[in-house]
Amino acid sequence: MFLAEIIGVGDELLYGETTDTNTAEIAQSLRPYALQVRRTLRVADDLDTLAQEVREAWAKARLVVLSGGLGPTPDDITREAIAAALGEELVLDPLVLGALEKLFEARGWRMPEANRKQAYKIPSASWIENPRGTAPGWWVRQEGKDLVALPGPPAEWRPMWASLLPRLGLPQKPYKQVTFKTFGLGESRIVELLGDLFQRGGAVEVGTYAKVDGVAVVLRGEPAQVDRLAECIRPLLGQALWGQEGETLPQLVLQALQARRATLATLESATGGALAALLTGVPGASECYLGGLLPYSPEAKARLGLTPGQGMVSAAFAEAMAALAREALGATYALATTGVAGPEALEGQPVGTFYLGLATPKGTRAQHHRLPGASREVLRQRAAHAALAFLLRALEEGL
Ligand code: AMP
Ligand code: MG
Repeated sequence: MFLAEIIGVGDELLYGETTDTNTAEIAQSLRPYALQVRRTLRVADDLDTLAQEVREAWAKARLVVLSGGLGPTPDDITREAIAAALGEELVLDPLVLGALEKLFEARGWRMPEANRKQAYKIPSASWIENPRGTAPGWWVRQEGKDLVALPGPPAEWRPMWASLLPRLGLPQKPYKQVTFKTFGLGESRIVELLGDLFQRGGAVEVGTYAKVDGVAVVLRGEPAQVDRLAECIRPLLGQALWGQEGETLPQLVLQALQARRATLATLESATGGALAALLTGVPGASECYLGGLLPYSPEAKARLGLTPGQGMVSAAFAEAMAALAREALGATYALATTGVAGPEALEGQPVGTFYLGLATPKGTRAQHHRLPGASREVLRQRAAHAALAFLLRALEEGL
């Protein structure tokens, strides 16, 4: 099996000022190919260290991909490091220099001297055009091996990499990925449900990934075997299954509402607007999402006529909240959230307790959750997604 090595360049990646997402995303894009990614690296803006790592990677790998360090400032040393590793000189390309100068002219500026270095490359590299920034990339092909240097910002390198990758002629393997998105089951419960179907290192690799929108079950491997396994797994996930790769709960909820020509209102307490933010994050949400209320303090709730009764963290209160939102905004459906986002318990209920209220034309109902999460933000996100999963299921049941 051929090796691929992926290197993220920049001090900020070492200290966490920028989280290195590039190496993972590039590794992910290589999954359909018969290449093994055994490690990815983050390297400081240090010429000698980077040159050494590139030299080592280039000696053993079929493909080396770097991101970052192609900027105009003195700490951007990826070009120099590759030149040193490959034993080549940097040469100015007057055409690229001219294009850079034009780019600045078009914005009404004179090109700073610092940007000149972006027009240099080693003779064995070809340019990868960057339609979204000043740093063009490099593509080096030698003896059936490829080295690619991309700029750091994802918005810049993604289109460059997408157009280059198929042209590298990398060895392919039959590959398919199927993702099942679930809500309401923990990872260990899913592993238990799948039993022997949960295999690692077999022809199909099965993985579970816990996110705020639930646990994703991902199958990867030979297409026919992935399909066969997927057909076995799907029914086991039952009602918890809500979507596939690329789908999100707010998007599916809004689609389901639109298909029914129905509208939605929200009334949030514990989620503090996270539910409204998810819904309004979908373009065109206003066609179905009328809006939300956020009475946070007990006084604000009382003003709207929401009095605690059996407590504000309760099923009855969640239902009353949903009924009020449905009425107030004249919506077909309404969702409400109340609960304990922490760090302190509330009304004797532990952190992670949530009651979700749903009001429909056929009445109200509530759902109780004990959600895991180490922070308020994670709990709020989980609870907001739980509310959307609650509504989606109810819509599918014809409520
Ligand atoms: P650079 O090309 O090194 O000047 O990087 C420019 C910007 O790209 C950085 O400030 C980050 O915002 C982003 N960036 C660079 N490397 C990465 C990475 N490995 N993961 C995510 N973002 C990155
Ligand atoms: Mg940098």
